[in-house]
Amino acid sequence: MLQYLAALAAAPLLPACSRADATPPPAPSGGASSIAPLRKSKAEWRKLLPSDAYEVLFEEDTEPPRSSPLNREKRPGTFVCAACYLPLFDAAHKFESGTGWPSFTEPIAGHVATKRDFKLILPRTEYHCARCGGHQGHVFKDGPPPRGERWCNNGLALRFVPKGDALPPLRT
Ligand SMILES: [Zn+2]
Repeated sequence: MLQYLAALAAAPLLPACSRADATPPPAPSGGASSIAPLRKSKAEWRKLLPSDAYEVLFEEDTEPPRSSPLNREKRPGTFVCAACYLPLFDAAHKFESGTGWPSFTEPIAGHVATKRDFKLILPRTEYHCARCGGHQGHVFKDGPPPRGERWCNNGLALRFVPKGDALPPLRT
């Protein structure tokens, strides 16, 4: 019985990326991207990526909260797509959201694209890498000012490059 209660207490009470004070997600931002798409089949990505990263990036899986070492990453630098290495977020825009996923106030303009998904019945705005289409996370309208956005990302879908280190060449 105690074991059962402990398991219950440890289970996430909210759906992935949600917070108790979450408000409806924003409309997709749209806007043309100048990024040339990288087209690979799921079979190709499955060969290139660790299975947990593949499941997040190309099957829209969500990693367990508080599982990513990137939650604790506070150094200046750049977060790039773990699949194709396109820079997606500047570390200057990372903030502690308390959700257990790496969170940002804004992406690098034009480097992510959005779409609505209905996996939790209520519509959410999914976003993905504008180059390879790899799923990154969801964006919510309950972030800090001035933009009020919370870009809730899977750590498995990102790779951190500290400032001063060379960015990896884009995967082709
Ligand atoms: Zn990518």
